[in-house]
Amino acid sequence: MKEIAIHWMRRDMRLHDNRALLAALDSGIPVISAFLFDEDILKRLDNTSDRRVSFIHHRLKNLQSEMRALGGELIVGYGQPRTMWSRWIEQFAADGFSVREVHAGRDYEPYAQERDQSLATWFNDQGIDFKGTKDNVIFEKNEVTKDDGKPYTVFTPYSKKWRKALSSQQYEEAQSAAHLLTAELVPSEDVGALPIPSLAQMGFEDVWEDGAWMPSTTVDDSLLKNYGDHRDFPSIPGTSRLSLHLRFGTISIREALRQGLKTSEKWTTELIWRDFYQMIVYHFPHSATDSFRPAYDAIPWINDESQFEAWCQGKTGYPMVDAGMRELKHTGFMHNRVRMVVASFLCKHLLVDWRWGERFFARHLLDFDLASNAGGWQWAAGSGCDAAPYFRVFNPSSQLEKFDKDLVYVRKWVPEYGTSLYPDPIVDHATARVRAIETYRSVLKPNPA
Ligand SMILES: Cc1cc2nc3c(=O)[nH]c(=O)nc-3n(C[C@H](O)[C@H](O)[C@H](O)COP(=O)(O)OP(=O)(O)OC[C@H]3O[C@@H](n4cnc5c(N)ncnc54)[C@H](O)[C@@H]3O)c2cc1C
Repeated sequence: MKEIAIHWMRRDMRLHDNRALLAALDSGIPVISAFLFDEDILKRLDNTSDRRVSFIHHRLKNLQSEMRALGGELIVGYGQPRTMWSRWIEQFAADGFSVREVHAGRDYEPYAQERDQSLATWFNDQGIDFKGTKDNVIFEKNEVTKDDGKPYTVFTPYSKKWRKALSSQQYEEAQSAAHLLTAELVPSEDVGALPIPSLAQMGFEDVWEDGAWMPSTTVDDSLLKNYGDHRDFPSIPGTSRLSLHLRFGTISIREALRQGLKTSEKWTTELIWRDFYQMIVYHFPHSATDSFRPAYDAIPWINDESQFEAWCQGKTGYPMVDAGMRELKHTGFMHNRVRMVVASFLCKHLLVDWRWGERFFARHLLDFDLASNAGGWQWAAGSGCDAAPYFRVFNPSSQLEKFDKDLVYVRKWVPEYGTSLYPDPIVDHATARVRAIETYRSVLKPNPA
């Protein structure tokens, strides 16, 4: 039996600047890559034409071709992780290979943590070394903490410490692409690799078409140089649109940071927010599904289903909210400023539980990422770490006045705005604001712990 190492690709869907792949290549034994469509995750997606699944599928086909061109292989399976791994290991054994180690980029979400811990024990029982590598963040876990070693829960001091701790070591390029040219790979013909499972086999439609809906994997330096001035205006293409690629690892966070450090301090700060939320979900896994501050779980949400539906459909009578919701449903993306406005409107003006909105975003956002999404929602609801205080309620009309004064964004998504076809506001801002503050105050002390 010949010993091999497996690179288990997850949130690192690329061959370049990939630390987990590099760790596998450095093992000194032949390497094969593997990707698993996790049945447990796919089962939770109720939209059979989910673009994210088509995106991953398409990407895998390309990566497999790239690996084959290099003389290696990327195998792709569909099933529950433990079942699939048993099957793969048996298949490798039948082909004369014994798996010595499995390398994966670490994932900090609660489901992934549990899955990986349970798999680590199982791999160990099989005599396989399961090795995690930091790949999709700059700093992880306890690498940036308060002086007493506790995790930060407030962004500004975290970001200051983050910047202080940063050295080129954290963002230098991992030489995985170069090593792929010289390392020994397990050739395709030596493993009885099955074809990539089709989307239909997994219960999904192929909606890739030409992939024109997918944002570019690169951003111009000139855009980032103007980022600070343009980032809040949804009608300007002033943000990077890299979120989908950072989510799936089609680009590396290190390459993004290298560009950020050269071009824009403000944009670099956004990348730090991303690290911050990954760190928070790792240390406080309850915050993915429950209020970070437990006192907020007592808020008596109204949860009016017809108002929630009006919000989902972009028919609240508040043009910035409606434009955002329609942009989301149509494109799978929403501008950050508008995400804040629609989220605040749902939690404060309509007093709908932030989790309803969080789940709706999870279903529709192409860049959905549990840590950033729950973090963003709880920021808006006031229940998160370092959130806006509950008595600060965004006024959707002044937000419109400030950030889309000429209605360019609104007219794009709500063409009937200003005509009799456009609905009246479903709540009055002033009344809803007072109601929100009183409702929150009824269960919270002025500075809830
Ligand atoms: C309610 C709400 C929900 C959100 N849900 C998500 C989500 O599911 N996935 C997601 O990636 N971002 C989420 N964000 C953060 C932010 O809105 C998006 O990252 C951003 O709009 C993506 O566009 P961009 O790539 O052009 O960002 P840019 O402005 O160009 O920023 C560059 C990158 O920094 C990261 N980033 C930027 N802002 C934030 C932030 N506030 N928190 C964490 N990371 C950030 C993203 O990876 C982004 O791609 C959410 C924000 C709010 C208010």
